[in-house]
Amino acid sequence: MKWLSVKTPSRTCLKDITADIDKAIKEFGLVNGTVQVFVPHTTAGVTINEKADPAVPDDILSHLEKLVPLHGGFRHSEGNSDAHIKTLLTGSSVLIPVADGALVLGTWQAVFFAEYDGPRNRKVLVTPLFSSCTP
Ligand code: ZN
Repeated sequence: MKWLSVKTPSRTCLKDITADIDKAIKEFGLVNGTVQVFVPHTTAGVTINEKADPAVPDDILSHLEKLVPLHGGFRHSEGNSDAHIKTLLTGSSVLIPVADGALVLGTWQAVFFAEYDGPRNRKVLVTPLFSSCTP
């Protein structure tokens, strides 16, 4: 397992962490299998989506803000219930196949750390899951 540090620059952002995960699987020596990416926070998550057009992450964040506004009349005393709910919608982990030592992602895909209550220093746990087949 390997912990990654992610520094987020604003209250909400989708930060591309694909290169960090790629570096981790190379350090693991993982050739064929699966890698799990897990975010141990309740106001940040991880997801896979389009990297090619930066308008896509912007649209995702702005639409999530419409769905779950910061001041939505919530009861939670910390005042960040919107971030908890956005994390619920995003999820806390992804599994990514690895083949021939590389992440198997679609042409337009990237792995994004989803920050909903930043800016903060966050952690991401990357765990290699090896596969094996018997003939
Ligand atoms: Zn809270």
